[in-house]
Amino acid sequence: MDFEAFFKSELGGLHEEGRYRVFADLERQQGQFPRATRYTEAGSHDVTVWCSNDYLGMGQNPSVIAAMKEAIDHCGAGAGGTRNISGTNHYHVLLEQELADLHGKESALIFTSGYISNWATLGTLGQKIPGLIIFSDALNHASMIEGIRYGRCEKVIWKHNDLKDLEAKLAAADPKAPKLIAFESVYSMDGDIAPIKEICDLADRFGAMTYLDEVHAVGMYGPRGGGVAEREGLMDRLTIIEGTLGKAFGVMGGYIAASNALCDFIRSFASGFIFTTALPPSLAAGAIASIRHLKSSQLERFAHQERVRRLRSMLDASGIPHMPNPSHIVPVMVGDAAKCKWISDILLDNFNIYVQPINYPTVPKKTERLRITPTPLHSDADLEHLVGALHQLWSRCALARAVA
Ligand code: PMP
Repeated sequence: MDFEAFFKSELGGLHEEGRYRVFADLERQQGQFPRATRYTEAGSHDVTVWCSNDYLGMGQNPSVIAAMKEAIDHCGAGAGGTRNISGTNHYHVLLEQELADLHGKESALIFTSGYISNWATLGTLGQKIPGLIIFSDALNHASMIEGIRYGRCEKVIWKHNDLKDLEAKLAAADPKAPKLIAFESVYSMDGDIAPIKEICDLADRFGAMTYLDEVHAVGMYGPRGGGVAEREGLMDRLTIIEGTLGKAFGVMGGYIAASNALCDFIRSFASGFIFTTALPPSLAAGAIASIRHLKSSQLERFAHQERVRRLRSMLDASGIPHMPNPSHIVPVMVGDAAKCKWISDILLDNFNIYVQPINYPTVPKKTERLRITPTPLHSDADLEHLVGALHQLWSRCALARAVA
């Protein structure tokens, strides 16, 4: 086989469908967020980032940066091994305690990313619990889908956020089979939120465990940043809460929080946890500082929610269509892959505004969008600049406006 020709022809297919991914070459600078330097062949210039998952700007928070620097000075660069073989650093232990406390659980277990925490946990449960059936929401993240696949257990997909469908599917399954319901709180592309209480009620009725991905909610919802389940007083009804350290907490890594026995089980059997180098101690130290900060400070959460409300009302006033939802994610709907990419390119090249276009297969065809994520650090002038630019481009693209 001519491998090179094969790779090129597959990539050509992506180009033809308008799905070839081009990364903006950015340099985040301390204290400047949401501004970043963009590098191009012509040189470099500042852009305003509108699609970061550093939702609260904690990646630039002085206490987080100081904690990371101190840990580097104290411990050096890397962890030096897997968790089992010399890589468990005291910061990891403290971080796990901090996360267990955040979610009101006995234990927590950290992984190198949120992706790996989903993949390793669901995969291990699927492989090890005899006869397990996993009921997976149709819009679950790729890391959950891959984990369930790797678990090689029976999988039942229920319609997104559809309680009737979930109930019917639970009722149709073998009553004796062990069951697990896997879902998210805030769904990342539509920004809608799962009916967590009702799903827990169904889980109780059918004797199922619950697995909640709170990746897009931890740090941002609940009085201590414990996520939507904390806000709704439901943390104790969930068997496993999964989260990331890489979005609102501004660092990197993933975790689960659950009972002692469950975390110990995953720690002992999950290859994605066992056979990989532990996170650098500095990342763990930064995550601890970030979680502690957001446990006690509401400022970032309030400012964030205010910015989201303000952006939505400005978009409404301009007739720019955006998907209504109860979260911080603002999907501006374009509905055409080529136009979506064109708008994103012009925003970047002519207005120094960076919003990555979101196309199929991440979202269904004809629902292509700009996924805008305001942060507390976006100013009024930033908002006006963004909405003004969108207003102009909407006319140039002859896109329909929403009726305000
Ligand atoms: N779950 C969901 C719902 C996600 O959107 C993502 C990443 N975007 C992940 C898990 C993976 O988290 P991480 O980026 O920490 O790997």
